Amino acid sequence: MPARDFFHSLMRIGPVQIGAHRDRHGTTKHAAVCTNDHCGWSADFSTQSAAQLAARTHRCKVR
Ligand SMILES: [Zn+2]
Repeated sequence: MPARDFFHSLMRIGPVQIGAHRDRHGTTKHAAVCTNDHCGWSADFSTQSAAQLAARTHRCKVR
C-alpha cells in the first residue's frame, strides 16, 4: 500500500480507518482502509459519507 502523505481527519469504524487525502491533482479524496493485516481492503471515495457507508458495510474476508 502506498504511503498517504496527506492522510488526515482520521476516524475509525470497526477495523476500517477513514481519512482524507489529496491526490496528485489536488483533489480531496476520502479513503477507507481496513487495518486488519489479513484483509488489506482499501478504497477511495469522493465524499466522506460514501467512505463511511463503505466502512460500515465492509466485511473482512479473513477473521
Ligand atoms: Zn477488512
